[in-house]
Amino acid sequence: MPDEGSPLGFATLAIHAGQPVDPSTGAVVTPIYQTSTYGQSSVGETHGYEYSRTGNPTRTALETCLAALEGAAHGRAFSSGMAAEDAILRLLNPDDHVLIGNDVYGGTYRLLSQVHGRAGVHFTSVALDDPAEVAAAWQPTTRMVWVETPSNPLLRIADIAVLAELAHARHAMLVVDNTFATPYLQRPLLLGADVVVHSTTKYLGGHSDVVGGFVATSDDEVAERIAFLQNAVGAVPGPFDCFLVLRGVKTLAVRMDRHCDNASRVAHALSANPAVDRVYYPGLSGHSGHETARAQMRGFGGMVSFTVRGGEAHALAVAASTAVFTLAESLGAVESLIEHPRRMTHASLSDSSLAVDPALLRLSVGLEDVDDLVEDLERALRAPPVNLD
Ligand SMILES: *Cc1c(COP(=O)(O)O)cnc(C)c1O
Repeated sequence: MPDEGSPLGFATLAIHAGQPVDPSTGAVVTPIYQTSTYGQSSVGETHGYEYSRTGNPTRTALETCLAALEGAAHGRAFSSGMAAEDAILRLLNPDDHVLIGNDVYGGTYRLLSQVHGRAGVHFTSVALDDPAEVAAAWQPTTRMVWVETPSNPLLRIADIAVLAELAHARHAMLVVDNTFATPYLQRPLLLGADVVVHSTTKYLGGHSDVVGGFVATSDDEVAERIAFLQNAVGAVPGPFDCFLVLRGVKTLAVRMDRHCDNASRVAHALSANPAVDRVYYPGLSGHSGHETARAQMRGFGGMVSFTVRGGEAHALAVAASTAVFTLAESLGAVESLIEHPRRMTHASLSDSSLAVDPALLRLSVGLEDVDDLVEDLERALRAPPVNLD
C-alpha cells in the first residue's frame, strides 16, 4: 500500500488529526459543541462559525481527522452514508450515465434507480473486476464510475488504479465506496480515485451506536460543490454523532488488525466445513480478487460471506441459530453479526438481475474471542433446515 502524504503514521493521525488540546480549557478530548449558532463581536466578525448547519467545531474535527486518514485535501461529514452518496450523485446532470458494480450496496442501487433515476440519471451495472466489461459498457454520456471494493455481499475486488486510469482517459470520475476496507486497509485517493465515500456507521464509528457518512476528495472544485450541497441540502450530522465517530476512529487501527485476524480464522474454518459450499473472503488464495487485494490493501478486512449446501432453507436456519453472532443488518462494529442478504440488506434487489443467491449468508466478524466465533458457526451449521412454506 502506498504511503500517505503526512509524515505521521496512521494510528497517530487517527488519534490526533484535527483534535488539538482545546485552546480555551485544555480539554484533551474535542468537546461536543452542542450549539446551533455562534455570537459575533460585530456584524460579520465571527470566530469562524455562524450556524451549525454550515459548520460546527466538533464536525470540523471529524472532517479534518477523516480527510487526513484518507490522504485527502478535503472532507465533509453527512448525517448518513446515503446522504453522503446523494451529495456525490448530485454532481451529475440529467442524462448523465453512471457505471456501478453488479453487487453494489442495495441502498446505492435504490438511490440511483428511484431517486436520481427520476432526475434523469442513467446507470448500468457491470462486473467492475473485469476492465474489459467496464470498457464495453461505456457510453458517450458516462461521467462516473462507482465502485465498492471489497464489494457487498460477495467481497469482489476491483483494481482501483486500473479503473481510475480507464475513467480518466474518458473524462469520467472514479468514486470509491471505502466503507468495507476503511482508510486503514486501503486509500483509494492515493491509487487515483477522485472521490471516496463512507458510511461512518460501520467500521469508522465501530460500535453500532451512530449513523453517519463522509465524503473525501483532493479535487478543489468537487470539494467546493460538496461543501455547497452539504450546507444547501442540510443532511449534516449533529455534534454528538461527530463525537461518537471521532471516538471510534481513535481505535480504528487496532480494531481493523483484529477484525482481519478473526475474519481470516473464520473464513478458513468455514472452508473446511462440509455444510459450506463456497466461502467469499479476499484473504483466501482461491478468491478471484486475492492478488489485487494483496496489492492495494494492507489486510483483507472483517467481512466474510458464504453459501451453504442446503440452499435457502438451511441458510435461514443457520442465521436463526447462532448465539454469539447477532442476526442483524449493518456491519463493522465490535460485535459479530450474521445476515441473509437476499431477504435483508439486498431485499430491494430481489426482483432485479442483481438478486443475490438465497443460500448466501454474510458475516461481519467482530472482536470477540475467535474460538467462540468459530464454535458458534459450527454449531449453527448443524441446525436442521427451516420449513420454507
Ligand atoms: C451501510 C452502507 C452504506 C449506507 O450507509 P448508511 O450510513 O447506512 O446510510 C453505503 N455503502 C456501504 C458499502 C454500506 O455498507
